[in-house]
Amino acid sequence: MPSPTRTYRGTPRNLARLARRLRAGELVAVPTETVYGLAANALDATACRRIYQAKGRPSRDPLIVHIHSIKQLASIAVPNEAALRLARRFWPGPLTLILPKRTTVPDVVSAGLPSVAVRMPSHPLFRRLLRLTGVPLAAPSANPFGYVSPTSAAHVRAGLGGRIPSILDGGPSRIGLESTIIDIRRPRAPRLLRPGAITLAALELALGVKVRVPRKKAAATSAQLAPGQLARHYSPHTPITLHASLARSVPHLAPREAWVFLARPRGRTGRNVFWLDATGRLDGVARQLFHMLRQLDAHRFERIHIELAPGSGLADAINDRLRRAAAR
Ligand code: AMP
Ligand code: MG
Repeated sequence: MPSPTRTYRGTPRNLARLARRLRAGELVAVPTETVYGLAANALDATACRRIYQAKGRPSRDPLIVHIHSIKQLASIAVPNEAALRLARRFWPGPLTLILPKRTTVPDVVSAGLPSVAVRMPSHPLFRRLLRLTGVPLAAPSANPFGYVSPTSAAHVRAGLGGRIPSILDGGPSRIGLESTIIDIRRPRAPRLLRPGAITLAALELALGVKVRVPRKKAAATSAQLAPGQLARHYSPHTPITLHASLARSVPHLAPREAWVFLARPRGRTGRNVFWLDATGRLDGVARQLFHMLRQLDAHRFERIHIELAPGSGLADAINDRLRRAAAR
């Protein structure tokens, strides 16, 4: 019998209770400003193994470790000057740093890699929970492996209900896309591993060097490729077709197919017409995207047509997720 999953509001009493459970090796789904995470004590290998079990995640896919203060950073990773500069500039916030790992972090967390991914989140409830727990918390997105990341407590319950004991409800995720990941082990040759709300331009400005964007390898099974780098990931069940723009290209909208515009389209209505943000602002688009994909999946449309975001920066992050969701 699956164990019941309880959702908790962030009262001081609940936070203290969830911190105790985390210290005892239990899993807790937590709100972050990017997406909801499935957290465990990052220094406890047994607890971290439970994350992989609950998600059905292959053990070769490393986890991101969340910390509360810059002081905690040096206990799990070996930071350099460039990393500290990024940390001071962007933390707490949606930026994950890849750094050499200290032996305090069990290999299960880094999937055997000599590096570790570290982030200081800004969501106030998760920050309070991190402080109360007193240990770094490993947390990948709180969804079954391969599906769209959760941006609300209800999404977590829909995917992992019965498989985890506790969900901390911190409202809808403010950003709605997973963190930017930068490999900063070589300060003069940093690499962007995943685009996010902290843009390439912002990173280059802070570092004063070019940040390389490695070309994606197509191999979806390659042993050392992390899931954020898989071609197919973040995928709803419904097939997706991407369009540069839907404005002109859709003479009539096939009724069994969903049409998702970035902004509210003029003169088009119907039960299969959707938009991600009333005015097409990209922060609104990012916040709504995963919720929209989940809703359309539930409606069982035959196909989802969706517009790519124009420009760069946050658009790169949105389009990265759209391309992965559309990959078959
Ligand atoms: P998720 O939060 O589910 O997106 O998973 C965490 C992501 O962090 C993975 O998709 C990886 O891309 C990335 N990651 C974690 N640790 C490392 C590492 N040591 N090196 C490279 N990427 C990592
Ligand atoms: Mg994930």
